[in-house]
Amino acid sequence: MPKKFSFDSFLVHKKRMTAEKRKEVCSQMTKAKKLAGLLLAALLVLTMVPTAYAVTQGDIENLKDDKKELKEEKKEIEDQIYQLRNDKEKAVERRALLDRQIELTVEEIRNTEAQISGYEALLVQTAYELEENQREEEEQYALFCERARVMEESGTTSYWSVLFKAESFSDLLSRLSDVQEVMNYDQGVLDNLRQLKAQIEEKQAYQEQLKGEAEEAKVELEEQKNDLDVQRKAANDLVAELQEDLEMTEQLLKEKEAEEAEIQKQIQKKEAELAAQMAAQQVTWTASSGGYIWPESASKRITSPMGSRNTGIPGASTNHKGVDIGGVGYNTTVVAAKAGTVIISEYSNSYGHYVVINHGPGNTTLYAHMSSRSVKEGDVVSQGQAIGITGSTGISRGAHLHYEIKEGGVRINPLDHLPGYIKAW
Ligand SMILES: [Zn+2]
Repeated sequence: MPKKFSFDSFLVHKKRMTAEKRKEVCSQMTKAKKLAGLLLAALLVLTMVPTAYAVTQGDIENLKDDKKELKEEKKEIEDQIYQLRNDKEKAVERRALLDRQIELTVEEIRNTEAQISGYEALLVQTAYELEENQREEEEQYALFCERARVMEESGTTSYWSVLFKAESFSDLLSRLSDVQEVMNYDQGVLDNLRQLKAQIEEKQAYQEQLKGEAEEAKVELEEQKNDLDVQRKAANDLVAELQEDLEMTEQLLKEKEAEEAEIQKQIQKKEAELAAQMAAQQVTWTASSGGYIWPESASKRITSPMGSRNTGIPGASTNHKGVDIGGVGYNTTVVAAKAGTVIISEYSNSYGHYVVINHGPGNTTLYAHMSSRSVKEGDVVSQGQAIGITGSTGISRGAHLHYEIKEGGVRINPLDHLPGYIKAW
């Protein structure tokens, strides 16, 4: 017995489509028209959707793994900060740990942002695939309607009526084989449609899942950004607090002076090493004065000049070795003021993340309190090349760039090389 022509099950399958829409699709779309439309649509889609997708679900999983590691390291740092909470003598150490905590939060934020853009790329990709599936479903459905219409016109709507019209046994057999062929064909179309529907539903579910995960990541990003603000404030407040305490200020200055002296020694040593290296390579290594550009381009406000300055506490004045450029925030690119070779790129308790560039014998520039550094010792940098991002690391009460210039091995006033600076001290 031939299988019943399953138009009904097909209608059930397509129940989401309105009767009107069905009629419209069935009556208006001839196969030729449909194909032309498809070609046009395919062309449009091809031009709209990027040919290669940079992100996969696996990439997002990798980011989640990285994040787990970040969380673990953060936990360790937090424990250490907690252990030092009441130890005044270890305040500088605690400040360094706070800097590390802030860095990890920044890394977390980058990770979450990468996840969000990953979700967005996957959503674009899924929407594209979904559209393709839906287009194919429509095409298959139109094909099916066309077959039904042809059969209706030729009076073969029902397989049974085809068979009942048989005039003889051999006619019946030949009709039966025709019906079988038609039936197989229709069954194939229906199977295809069913499969497409399953694919579409699966993709829609995936789309919802991605949207949910992207939303979660966005909420998390907001929390992380709030954490960052709180942590930065805590780190700056700690230094401000220390500086309000005479005893602590003295200790802080002592530590700072000792570290600075150590850094100066290191600069001289590295300079000598570089000079020897240049000589060995027979590179002309000469000094040239001047020729500096601004080390950043967000602000021209100088909040503290070079020289003696009052710490606000009687008897505790300090000699400022460079200038402080304020109004730079935590996200400004710091650039090499002059071409040269990086001789130091490290974190120090007082300078925080700092970089020293050697421009010739006795000629160096120093950039301190940065959030991060993007060059390492030995890097050859051109003038204007990014070397880091501004911040408030080390002994610093707020975001600023501490900038020093040395010529002939002696510190000179950077203000002479910062044209158009605004006095803000
Ligand atoms: Zn300074």
